[in-house]
Amino acid sequence: MLKILGTTGDVTTCDCCLRADLKKTVVVRNLDSCEVRLYGVDCAAKILGRRGVAVARAARVADGAREFAVFTRIGVEVRRFARGTRAYVEAALKAEASPASWYVAAAQGGAA
Ligand SMILES: [Zn+2]
Repeated sequence: MLKILGTTGDVTTCDCCLRADLKKTVVVRNLDSCEVRLYGVDCAAKILGRRGVAVARAARVADGAREFAVFTRIGVEVRRFARGTRAYVEAALKAEASPASWYVAAAQGGAA
C-alpha cells in the first residue's frame, strides 16, 4: 500500500522517469516495504492510479498535517521552556541571594 507523505523541494528529480528540475516532488512511502520514493506529480498519479489533481490535493493535505505537527511540537517546546524559566525565577526569588546562587538553585531544578 502506498501513502503520500507530502511534498519536498529538497529533491527535484523524479524516481520514476528521472526527470529533473521539478519544482518539488511528492514523497510516497510504501507501507509494506517502508521504501520511500519521490516522484513528480504526473508519475505519482500514474503509480498511485489516481488523477494528478487528486494526488496534488492529497499531497497538500499531507503537507498541512506535517506543518501542523511541527507547530504542535514547537508549542510543546515553548511550554517546556516557559516552565523551566518559571522554575528559575521562582528559585531566584526564594533564594534572595546573589545571582550565582540563583543559578545554582535553578541548575538543581529549582527550590521545590
Ligand atoms: Zn517521473
